[in-house]
Amino acid sequence: MPVDPELVALLVCPACHGDIEYKERRAVIVCTACGLRYPVRDNIPVMLVEEAERPSPSGGTPGAASGGSSAGAEGGEVAGEGGEESS
Ligand SMILES: [Zn+2]
Repeated sequence: MPVDPELVALLVCPACHGDIEYKERRAVIVCTACGLRYPVRDNIPVMLVEEAERPSPSGGTPGAASGGSSAGAEGGEVAGEGGEESS
């Protein structure tokens, strides 16, 4: 049985009292505010700061999608093909 979503909705991060998010696939509860990850053991969230996993301070950047919307429909590059001369 998965963790009761109603229970998850009641939980807050004990470290910063921020909102948490239950990752069912990984069986962890992640604080969306500070990033601490709390384990879920036997479908019981362990909301203890000392049990929590801290996000790695370096090199743990998830793909920050900073997509620049470039309106580049200017397909004007015509590459001349077959420019090889063989004599
Ligand atoms: Zn937190």
